[in-house]
Amino acid sequence: MKRLLKGGHLVDPLQGIDGIRDVLLDGDRVAAVGQDLSVGSDVEVIVVPDGFVVCPGFVDMHVHLREPGQEHKETIATGTAAAAAGGFTGVACMPNTSPVNDTASVTRLILEKAAVEGIVHVYPIGAVSKGMKGESLAEIADLKSAGCVALSDDGKVVATALLMRRALEYAGMLQMPVIDHCEEPTLKGEGVAHEGFVGSRLGLRGIPAAAESIVVDRDIALCEMTGSPLHIAHLSTRQALRSVAAAKSRGVRVTCEVAPHHFTLTDERLVGPIPYDTNLKMNPPLRELVDLDALLNGLKDGTVDAIATDHAPHQLDEKHVEFDRAPFGIIGLETAVALALDRLLHSGIITLRRMVELLSVNPCRILNVPGGSLRPETPADVTIIAPSVSWTVDVSASRSRSRNSPFDGWTLRGAVAATIVGGRTVYVNGTVAGAVAFGGVAAGA
Ligand SMILES: [Zn+2]
Repeated sequence: MKRLLKGGHLVDPLQGIDGIRDVLLDGDRVAAVGQDLSVGSDVEVIVVPDGFVVCPGFVDMHVHLREPGQEHKETIATGTAAAAAGGFTGVACMPNTSPVNDTASVTRLILEKAAVEGIVHVYPIGAVSKGMKGESLAEIADLKSAGCVALSDDGKVVATALLMRRALEYAGMLQMPVIDHCEEPTLKGEGVAHEGFVGSRLGLRGIPAAAESIVVDRDIALCEMTGSPLHIAHLSTRQALRSVAAAKSRGVRVTCEVAPHHFTLTDERLVGPIPYDTNLKMNPPLRELVDLDALLNGLKDGTVDAIATDHAPHQLDEKHVEFDRAPFGIIGLETAVALALDRLLHSGIITLRRMVELLSVNPCRILNVPGGSLRPETPADVTIIAPSVSWTVDVSASRSRSRNSPFDGWTLRGAVAATIVGGRTVYVNGTVAGAVAFGGVAAGA
């Protein structure tokens, strides 16, 4: 089955394209890219509306799908449906499931389930340590052979410097990045919010910025020593960003991601309009305006490699408790692209090209997975966005099984129009796309 995406604005940094192009899809591959491609009558022609942007599929490298073990929060089916609706053609899922993804059998279970019920590509991340207990290394080679693309004890820091050193050494031999949740546990203690003026005023126990930057510094030192790739998850402070920038300038193989909530919100939000809103409780916590400004600079100048959501679903009753007792985390798959467009593109901080690097090129490169470009022969994974269309977030309509978003009711400029995975249209936004049928799925479907 051949399909022509006709006349869209293609942004494909790896091909050096930022202009009107046709993209011909043949089955699950890209067949050709060019201006005014002429095609036979056997090709379905989809005219991409004016102003819509065609991008290599976006990949969210930090997602908690919760399956196996916490299917009341999310499943592979609902999580990947939310991903498709958010413009992601692939997600990497963290190993803090129940059981922990620390053996090949759990990895295979996730991949088998994803093959049947998943709507987008699922890339499992294996645990660094057995049971994520921080004591001994998991069977890293087995995890790799079973299909894990990276290693992480996300949710917890890799407990000791020695364990992190060994993880980097083994993972490096296997060409896998270690993804680090940077948090010095004794400094974090029982903290629930950023340690600063706002948190103190509200009487919330603090998590200092140094809890993050100390571990970032430790692991950059180990990354430099071992020469293995290290990726810093959900970087949130200016101090940690400064360390990453300095390390990169020395040629250290470190990369980092920033979550949309950290480039959109600060801890000021805890004051109101909804004081102590548990949908503002995440780990790392919302930081200060100076941190947010630093992250914006990092997104602009290339110090930050990727935007990743840290999509962390929790049920309503779990979040419907006192701030102190609520679990950390928010959902993010369906708002990430719109927040990037609204906050970063329209405010002139980044270009479309840079946005595609942050959401597609770099996540694919860091994880070593296919995608990041629509060159001929690459997978037909496409994200089509409508940067100028405004819409209002309605969390009750979320595809996720959970509703814990602080962005409910927000009007954002920039929307996902359609998501195509392996040549198959898996999502069309009826409101945005109007009467356009993006390859088989009619708008509104
Ligand atoms: Zn984390």
